[in-house]
Amino acid sequence: MPIHDAIIIGAGHNGLACALHLASRGWRTLVLEQATTPGGAVKTAEVTVPGFRHDLYAMNLSMFAGSAFHAEHGERLARHGLAFVPAARPFASVYGDGSTWLGLEQGLAATLARIASVSPRDAEAWQALDARFEREAPHLFGLMGAPLPSWAAARLLWRMGRALGLAGMADIARLLLSSPRDWLTENFESDAVRCLLAPWGLHLDFAPDVAGGALFPYLEAMAGQRFGMALGQGGADVIIRAMVAALGEAGGELKTGVSVRRIEVSSGRAQAVETTDGQRLEARRAIIANVHPRALYGPLLGAAAPANSARAGKLRPGPATMMIHLALDALPNWRAGAELQTFAYVHLAPSLDHIAQVYNQALAGLLPAEPVLVVGQPTAFDPSRAPAGKHVLWVQARVLPATPQGDAAGQIAAAPWDEIKEIYAERVLDMLERHAPGLRQSILGRCVLSPADLERDNPNLVGGDSLSGSHHLDQFFIFRPAFGRSRWRTGIDRLFHIGASTWPGAGTGAASGYLLGHDLT
Ligand SMILES: Cc1cc2nc3c(=O)[nH]c(=O)nc-3n(C[C@H](O)[C@H](O)[C@H](O)COP(=O)(O)OP(=O)(O)OC[C@H]3O[C@@H](n4cnc5c(N)ncnc54)[C@H](O)[C@@H]3O)c2cc1C
Repeated sequence: MPIHDAIIIGAGHNGLACALHLASRGWRTLVLEQATTPGGAVKTAEVTVPGFRHDLYAMNLSMFAGSAFHAEHGERLARHGLAFVPAARPFASVYGDGSTWLGLEQGLAATLARIASVSPRDAEAWQALDARFEREAPHLFGLMGAPLPSWAAARLLWRMGRALGLAGMADIARLLLSSPRDWLTENFESDAVRCLLAPWGLHLDFAPDVAGGALFPYLEAMAGQRFGMALGQGGADVIIRAMVAALGEAGGELKTGVSVRRIEVSSGRAQAVETTDGQRLEARRAIIANVHPRALYGPLLGAAAPANSARAGKLRPGPATMMIHLALDALPNWRAGAELQTFAYVHLAPSLDHIAQVYNQALAGLLPAEPVLVVGQPTAFDPSRAPAGKHVLWVQARVLPATPQGDAAGQIAAAPWDEIKEIYAERVLDMLERHAPGLRQSILGRCVLSPADLERDNPNLVGGDSLSGSHHLDQFFIFRPAFGRSRWRTGIDRLFHIGASTWPGAGTGAASGYLLGHDLT
């Protein structure tokens, strides 16, 4: 049995990015994945009707397209089929009673014109924010892509201070601490703009009143308007297929259907992994876990877990998510406006109060009476994912309880997700039908993935938490997954930890895998 330089546990995009980087530097690299398909939370499959390709989880690849990993390895990946489809109209929101909407599109002038139609004052505020983004973006994105804490981050902060001055730094600090509602109401007067941006907090677990959430609507708004959204050509899994092929070319290996059950540690050093099918595989230089810290510092390390790893092992999940995939005869006939068919995401988010209420219902264990919906329309941009003239719809219900204890609408009895997922999906379809009359009639097939299904496919999505851990301030920056564990170190020699549970968190930016790979070579 050959001894590998590095064994990576988990073929999420971070694990694969790390493996590819190491293999490209000559390391003998092996990736072990428990599922039969690599990709973790980035997978595409025909789960409704043959010929309809659905992004089961992530659909928006903007983070990957803009990542440092892609900047370095993009050419190699392109040779293995990686291609993006640009979406110049990244997102819109239907708000209020469902008859009004506002969208954002690439290009300042176009977005300003849309915003001015609801509030000239908000258009001015938007323009000022765009100018602010121009000054801040290189620093903010630099920091979001740097190891924390590190001299590199300290240097970035120093440069940021010199460029922005004390007042500029104070502005950034306020932004990082603000809740979405405080930031949105401070900057915009119209419900339209507030509802356009607030759902981006809930793509993570920042309801309007959670401190620290303002950053995400700000970055998505400004980046979306400058760069649009990137989708994967043919499906989001194009990044996974390209990484797997490039890994093979670089001499690395991926084994699927192989689950790691234990990491062997002796003399304070990680030596080997044991798989559930009884193999013992040694690594000479590194074992890299792309897994949830509850698993790493729990069953995988067992008694070998360092005494001070208890906090990391308790990383709190965010609320759960459900995915509903539809094969459709036609795009939704949006009641609020036919032009909505031309946006990648349509958020159904009536008001900030509604979003706040949904979040509180989910935290209280209740099925929300009407969840916030993210409705993805990938075939509006990439028709190759469905037969000619047909479409797929990607519907995400945010946010839900991991274990339902009741129903805020008083209609569905508390039961495990496997028993009620189809019933709850009917509620979501009713909402869609109200916003897009005739939708039900155009459904050719559907697939509902409950929070329990998400975790079954990928144990990193604990309780159906799409984020692999809440991103609230006490679990972000230097606290992800715990203070002292934020630089992908575990306290055990040669054992490293990457993935959405580590800094810089969830999303398809491949940062933890790439930065660790960089660090090691
Ligand atoms: C429904 C949903 C929608 C999302 N939408 C978007 C989006 O549009 N855009 C975006 O940027 N982000 C999105 N995200 C978030 C993003 O997809 C994830 O944060 C990211 O893909 C996580 O990547 P990762 O490499 O850290 O780990 P994961 O993708 O979680 O992969 C970890 C892998 O490790 C494997 N594994 C775990 N334990 C073991 C073990 N013991 N042995 C072997 N293998 C193991 C798992 O099976 C899994 O394949 C979404 C997530 C979800 C769930």
